[in-house]
Amino acid sequence: MLDKIILNRINSMSVLELRELKSHIDSLLPPAVVYQQKPAKCGCKRCKEGGPGHGSYWYAYFTYQNKTYCVYVGKEKREIDPLKELEKKKKRGGKK
Ligand SMILES: [Zn+2]
Repeated sequence: MLDKIILNRINSMSVLELRELKSHIDSLLPPAVVYQQKPAKCGCKRCKEGGPGHGSYWYAYFTYQNKTYCVYVGKEKREIDPLKELEKKKKRGGKK
């Protein structure tokens, strides 16, 4: 539980201070992840002709440091760790 003193401090803060506090808290928290299922399109004839794509695959979206990322999850939904995924992306050479 939050300390009463901290709560009182927060309650007496100006909008400006609250915004600052919020961005500080956001920098401490891991990014929130949104999962979305959608068909994958490849380069095959059917896809190129506007077909429905293949299966349904899960993607994870999250925003980190004002950038939105999309991570391919796969056929089965699983929870991802956004910060770990970012590190993986970096290791791959930072290609977009
Ligand atoms: Zn295809």
